[in-house]
Amino acid sequence: MCGIIGYCGPKVAAPILIEGLKRLEYRGYDSAGISVLGPDGRHRIVKKKGKILDLRKAVPAELPGGTGIGHTRWATHGEVSDRNAHPHTDAAASVSIVHNGIIENYSALKQRLQGKGYIFVSETDSEVIAHLLSDLYDGDLERSVKHAVSLLKGTYGMLAMHVNEPGVIVGARNGSPLVVGVGDGEMLIASDVTALVEHTKQVLYIEDGEVVRMTADGHRTTDLRDKPIDRELQVIGWQIEEIEKNGYDHYMQKEIFEQPESILRAIQGRLEPENATAHLGGLNMTSRELLDIERVKIIAAGTSYHAGLVAAYALESLARVPAGSELASELRYRNPIVERNNVYFAVSQSGETADTLYAMRELQRKGARVLGICNVVGSTIPRESDGGVYIHSGPEIAVASTKAFTSQLSALYLFTLLLARMRHMSYEAGLRFMHDLERIPDLVQEVLTRTEHVQELAKKYAQAKNFLFLGRGINYPVALEGALKLKEISYIHAEGYSAAEIKHGPIALINEETPSLFIVPNDGLRDKVISNMKEVKARNGKVIALGVDGDNELADIVDDVMFVPKTHELLYPYLTVVPLQLFAYYTALELGRDVDQPRNLAKSVTVE
Ligand code: GLU
Repeated sequence: MCGIIGYCGPKVAAPILIEGLKRLEYRGYDSAGISVLGPDGRHRIVKKKGKILDLRKAVPAELPGGTGIGHTRWATHGEVSDRNAHPHTDAAASVSIVHNGIIENYSALKQRLQGKGYIFVSETDSEVIAHLLSDLYDGDLERSVKHAVSLLKGTYGMLAMHVNEPGVIVGARNGSPLVVGVGDGEMLIASDVTALVEHTKQVLYIEDGEVVRMTADGHRTTDLRDKPIDRELQVIGWQIEEIEKNGYDHYMQKEIFEQPESILRAIQGRLEPENATAHLGGLNMTSRELLDIERVKIIAAGTSYHAGLVAAYALESLARVPAGSELASELRYRNPIVERNNVYFAVSQSGETADTLYAMRELQRKGARVLGICNVVGSTIPRESDGGVYIHSGPEIAVASTKAFTSQLSALYLFTLLLARMRHMSYEAGLRFMHDLERIPDLVQEVLTRTEHVQELAKKYAQAKNFLFLGRGINYPVALEGALKLKEISYIHAEGYSAAEIKHGPIALINEETPSLFIVPNDGLRDKVISNMKEVKARNGKVIALGVDGDNELADIVDDVMFVPKTHELLYPYLTVVPLQLFAYYTALELGRDVDQPRNLAKSVTVE
C-alpha cells in the first residue's frame, strides 16, 4: 500500500530516498517522510502531508548522511497530517521507523508503554513500534526488532534505524512486501522493485517471519529464531525506461496504449499451432490433473475480479467446465468449501493484494490447489501459489488498472483453450480460436486509432453526475469494469449492470441527466440489448452505444455511438474495454482530475 525505502551506502541518502519515494508514490500517497542518520549521530526527520513534491520542497538542500529510511503513507489509522506521516520516533529520537500495514494490537501495547511513561505524539498504530523498540533496545537493533515484532499482531513491512548503530538498517516483514536491492558497495530495501531498478538489478525477496539486517556492504537474513536464511538473489527483468512515462502525459495513458504489445507478450510463445492448443508450463499440472478438473474458481479483487468474471464465461462456454469468479475478500471469511478437483486462480497484478493473498492461504490450508496470475515476478502470490502464469505486462504504475486487465484475460483465455482442447473443442475449432486470439493485438491497435472520437464523447458527457454502464453476457463484466474506471479516476458516480437487470431497479435512475453506455455485441444478445436500450430512450435517458463495425442501425436509435472491429464473440471484452478505459481517462482529464493518483486510492492494496 504505502511505499518504504531504505538506503545504506557511500552516497548522500536523502536524494536517493526521495527519488525512491517518487517511484513508489503510486502505491499510496497521502503523506511522506524520510529520516537520515546524520554524521552528528542524530536522526534528521522531515515529513509532510501531500505529495512527494511537497516533501522534496521541505527537505533542506544540505541533509548529509549515508543511511536513511523513507515512507509514503496511505493512512489507515489517524488522519492525513504531518504529525501522522512516517517516519516515527521515540521521545529521545534514538530510533526511527517506517511501517507499512496495520498493527492490530497497538492499543494494548500503547497503553502499556504509556504506563511506563512513553509519550505518543501521533494517532497512528505505527508509532507504537518506535516506542516499543526504544523500550526493548538492548544494544543490538536486529535482536531488538525480533523481540519487538514477536509482540506485534497484524501486518508489517518495517524498517528501523538506531543512533547507536550508524550505517545499519533492520527490516522485518509479515504480510507487507519487502525486497532488498544489492548494489555495488551500497544496499537498498523497498516495498517493491520499481524503487530499486535504477540502482541495481539484483534483488532478494524477504518472506514473512524474516528479519534482514543491512549495511553498505552486506546483508543478513534470519528468521525470528535466528536461523539464517540463504536465498538466491533474483535478477529484475524490468528496464528503467519501462517505469518512465516515455512521452505520454500520464502512466494510465501510456498503459492503455501499450496494450497491443502487452497482450502480445502475454500470449507469445504460449500457443502451439501444431496442436491448436496453449502451453502453460508454470501451471505445474500434468495432463491427467488438468483433465480431472471439475470446477475452476477465480478469486480476485477490483479489476482482476472483472477479468475473472469474463474468463468464467469463456471457460464455461468453450471448455464446458463450471467456472466462477469471486471476491477474495468475501471468500476468505465464509469458510469456503474446497472440493476435490477444484482449481483456483488467484489473480492480482501486484501479486501482493492482501485480500487475494489471504484468501489464497485460506484455500491452501484447506488443501486447495491455487494457481497465481500475476504481473510482478517474484511477488508473494507467485511465490506461495502452487503454480501459475505470469502476464508479463511490464510495470503498471497508474492506480487505475488497464493493461493488466487485458493481459489477465490473455492468461485465462490461454488456460481456457488448453482445457477446451482437452475436452470438447476440435482441432479446427481450436485453431480458429487461436487465430482469433492472435489477431487481438492488431484489433486493439485498431480500436486505439479511434481514440479521438472517444475523447469527443468524454468531453460531451463529462458534466454528468451519474452514469450507467450496461452489458450482457461476456460483456456484462466489461460494463462493471467501465463503471469502475470512471468512478476511480473521474469521481463520477457510475454503476455497472447487466442490461437486462436495469428494469429490476436501476431504471428508476434514468432521466435526461443520467447517461447510459450500452455495450452492444453482434451476437445472440444484440436484439435483447437493443430492446433494453429502447426502454431507456423511452424514459428520456441519453444513450451511448458501443457497437460492432457494420451495425449501422445503432446510430438511429441512440444519441452517440462508438464502434469496435469484429472478432470472435467471446473475445469482445478485449475490444470493448479499451474505449471504456479511454472514456474514463479523457473524462477525468476534462474534469482536471489527478489521473494517475486518484484521491483515496492506492495501487497495490496490501491491507485488508
Ligand atoms: N497503519 C499505518 C498508518 O496509518 C501505515 C499505513 C501505510 O501502510 O501506509 O500510518
